[in-house]
Amino acid sequence: MVSRDPAASLEGDPQSLWIDPNGPPQFEPLDGSVSVDVAVVGGGIAGLTTATLCKQAGKTVAVIEADRVGEGVTGHSTAKVTAAHGLVYDELASTVGEERARGYAEANAAAVECVADLIDVHDIDCSFERLDAYTYTQSADDRSAIEAEVRTAKRLGLAANFAEEVPVPVETEGGVRFPDQAQFDPMRYLQGLAADLPGEGSSVFERTKATDLETALQRISPLPTPGSSSRGCTQSDRTCSPHALRRLPRRCVTSPAVPMTIARRARIRPETGPAC
Ligand SMILES: Cc1cc2nc3c(=O)[nH]c(=O)nc-3n(C[C@H](O)[C@H](O)[C@H](O)COP(=O)(O)OP(=O)(O)OC[C@H]3O[C@@H](n4cnc5c(N)ncnc54)[C@H](O)[C@@H]3O)c2cc1C
Repeated sequence: MVSRDPAASLEGDPQSLWIDPNGPPQFEPLDGSVSVDVAVVGGGIAGLTTATLCKQAGKTVAVIEADRVGEGVTGHSTAKVTAAHGLVYDELASTVGEERARGYAEANAAAVECVADLIDVHDIDCSFERLDAYTYTQSADDRSAIEAEVRTAKRLGLAANFAEEVPVPVETEGGVRFPDQAQFDPMRYLQGLAADLPGEGSSVFERTKATDLETALQRISPLPTPGSSSRGCTQSDRTCSPHALRRLPRRCVTSPAVPMTIARRARIRPETGPAC
């Protein structure tokens, strides 16, 4: 966690606890061109996890990050690594069905262990700590919803249980407890993953914006970028949040434009032009 003066942090724009606004960039922008098996747009948790697993599978990878690694949504998150997301499982099971809800539950449980494994394998110092996760209510009227969530989560294979006592400094009417979840410093986690990527044909580029994207099969239309002269943003911007939206214009004007092709092999060039 970045240390701040608590009084100062109440003034001006809200700032992430994990991001050091004065921290130096970790990687240089792309200068020239690079050919890789897999090009990943975005150095958030989705991109860096994808890149790390691809490299682990023997592929060469380039991560293109428009700003700095982790400073999108991930660096502004609440730092929990859990299969618990509010009250999601009971509603999912009743809307998309048990089978798909079970798939979502299994994917979430596996993701927690994937993060733990990557921290272990890459020896990342990111204050990873196993803790129970709770979703609680302060209203007796919501107790039945909590009970329904526990029942459904259990049925879907998650180790959830009902907690009469929730370790928070307010009165509660109980909560769903997911044991053995985790919290970490998401910036240090991503910086650790990114630090291990370069080498053996793989690279990370910061302050490098992908502006055009074409697959072997279909062209993907870029999103409009307000206030930007570059041609567009990519799929990664669709993990939209207020943070990401607020940051888009600045990011778009400060990053070099990089058209890219996603194919079996991707060639990334630093200037706009026809994709290869
Ligand atoms: C307030 C808040 C709290 C949250 N807390 C949690 C939590 O505690 N636990 C949890 O599991 N989830 C949490 N989430 C959800 C989670 O943070 C997100 O789902 C996750 O971080 C998204 O990761 P990402 O890699 O897809 O996106 P990002 O982290 O936003 O990464 C995308 C990256 O792509 C870059 N990029 C975009 N366009 C381009 C381009 N054209 N060229 C190059 N780079 C580009 C961006 O600069 C950015 O760095 C939270 C979300 C919010 C909004």
